[in-house]
Amino acid sequence: MAIEVYPNIYRHEIPLPGNPLKAIHSYFILSKDRNLIIDTGFNRKECRDAFMKGINELNIDFNKTDLLITHLHSDHSGLAAELSKEDVNVYVGKIDGKMINDMSSDEYWRRFEEYAVMFDLTKDNIAFDDHPGYKYCPKEGIEFIDLIEGDLINIGDYSFEVIDIPGHTPGHIGLYDRNHRIFFGGDHILDKITPNIAFWGFEQDILSVYFDSLKKIYQYDIDYLFSAHRNIVKNHKKRIDELLGHHKDRLNEIKEIIKDGKMSVRDIASRMNWSLRCNIWEDFPNPQKWFASGEAMSHLEHLVYTGQAEKIEDNGILYYSLKGRNE
Ligand SMILES: [Zn+2]
Repeated sequence: MAIEVYPNIYRHEIPLPGNPLKAIHSYFILSKDRNLIIDTGFNRKECRDAFMKGINELNIDFNKTDLLITHLHSDHSGLAAELSKEDVNVYVGKIDGKMINDMSSDEYWRRFEEYAVMFDLTKDNIAFDDHPGYKYCPKEGIEFIDLIEGDLINIGDYSFEVIDIPGHTPGHIGLYDRNHRIFFGGDHILDKITPNIAFWGFEQDILSVYFDSLKKIYQYDIDYLFSAHRNIVKNHKKRIDELLGHHKDRLNEIKEIIKDGKMSVRDIASRMNWSLRCNIWEDFPNPQKWFASGEAMSHLEHLVYTGQAEKIEDNGILYYSLKGRNE
C-alpha cells in the first residue's frame, strides 16, 4: 500500500526478503506533468512485484516518470536498469552513478577477494559473491543523468535542490525543498537503525566524510526527513546528535579492543557488539561478516587518519593497534 505522507508524495514499502533492513521505502512524487520516483528495491522478483503494485495502485505512467537513485546500494538501485528501458530518465549523483555501472561487472567485485585476504576473512572461507551488494545489483550498464549539488528538480508545487551527503556511500545525494522544509535523505539519517558506514578504499577517511555530511544537514530547516528505511525523522538535529554519539561509542569500543596489541580486522569485528541474533562470529551469515568487517574498517581507518591507531601488514593481512602498542 502506498501511503500519502505529504501532499502528492506517497511512501511505498518494498520488502527486502532475508535482509536485516526488512524493507525499503520508495517515494512516489506525483504531478500532472511529470512524476518522480525515489529508489526502487533490489533487482529480484519480490521487490519488482511490490514495486509494480505501487505503480499500478497510483496509476503511474512510465512515459511521464523519472527515477532518482539516492545512492548506489542495490536495495536502492536494483531495478534502475530495467526502468531505464521503459524510457524513464534515471537521475543519480555523479560518483555513485559511475560506481553502479562499475558494479554491474564482476571485475569490480574481484577487489573483494583482495579485501578478504586483507581483513583475514579467508579463515571463514568468504568469497566476493557473498558480499551483500553483489547479488541483487543491476547487471547491465545504465545511461544515467548525472546530478551535482545545486541542481534543481521541479515537480508540481515542489522544487528540489540536490544536496551532496557523502559518507554512507561516496556519492550519496539527497533532495531538499526549502519552502516545504522536507528532505529526502536515502540512508543518510535513519531512525531506529544506524546507517552502515563501510570501507570504500584507503584514499579517504570516510567516517570523517560522513560526520561532515551529518553536520551539514544539521544546519537545514527540516520538518520531515523522509528516509529510505524505518521511520520518518521529525527531529533531525536530535537524531544527528544520537548518530554522532553512536560512532563515538563505536570508536571507543574499538580502541578498547586494540589497546593490548595488534589485531586483524576479522578479530576486531568479531569482538565488537552487533545487534544480530547470533552471538558468536562463526554463526554470522557470510554477508554479515562482510558488513561487520566493513564497518570495523571505516572506524579503524578513521583512528589511523586521526593519529590514534596504527596499522601494519603481514603476509597480506592488516593488523591494527592503538598508537604505540604495536608489538
Ligand atoms: Zn544504503
